[in-house]
Amino acid sequence: MNERFQIKDQLLALQKLQELDLKIDSLKRKKAALPANLKAAQDAFNKVKSASELKQGAIGEIEKARKQTQAAIELNKERLERAGKKLEAVHNTQEFQAASKEFEQLRKLGISFDEQMKKTALEIDTVGKDRARLDEQLVGLKAELDARQTECDGHAGVIDAEVAVLMNDRRSLVPMIDAPVVLRYDRVRAARCGIGFVQAVGGRCGGCNMMIPPQLYNEIQKAGEIHSCPNCNRMLFVPPAPPQPDTAAAAADGAVPSESQNGK
Ligand SMILES: [Zn+2]
Repeated sequence: MNERFQIKDQLLALQKLQELDLKIDSLKRKKAALPANLKAAQDAFNKVKSASELKQGAIGEIEKARKQTQAAIELNKERLERAGKKLEAVHNTQEFQAASKEFEQLRKLGISFDEQMKKTALEIDTVGKDRARLDEQLVGLKAELDARQTECDGHAGVIDAEVAVLMNDRRSLVPMIDAPVVLRYDRVRAARCGIGFVQAVGGRCGGCNMMIPPQLYNEIQKAGEIHSCPNCNRMLFVPPAPPQPDTAAAAADGAVPSESQNGK
């Protein structure tokens, strides 16, 4: 393979690429999680909406029963009228007894229908008030839901803008790495929880924590080519050793000289 770029420069670019990709992944997860914040408001709204619809259904049923009772009342009224006329036209005791019995029965039936109507009116009133209360709640819950939706859309917009900036950075970084290396990185990243390039510290892979064979570790440190972890396939780099504490600076800071410094 004819490498166009210095391995050390590519390792540096890969490091930046991995940092960018982790940021992009995190933002994408954040965006994906946004609708979850809406869910509670949506659930609360839906719950009260179904309750209101149930009440409306109940009112419909009661209204139907009320109409039936009303029809029965009209019919009973006619029968009672006829029974009253019959009672006026009786010719003997036997007829009187039969007619007055029928009249009395219809009269009692009329009373029970009237009571039924009063009960139904009361039920409609109660259920209607319940529904009105639920509908009032719905207004508030809808406003809450709309506010959450707007908030969610706003956050999503901000995240999209942040991702766009990072993607732009990514696009300018990718050409600084050999194409096959980028492909390798993308493939491993996809298979390994978003991490394709990781540092090796203390002889271990920072991705899977497995010990790296010492010979390979030395090779990684030399950075002559880009090596992968034999266990998890992530590409590895050894970060340069942190600069040794500067004796002069430490003394200037008023730090107590350590034993190692005393020997110098
Ligand atoms: Zn590994």
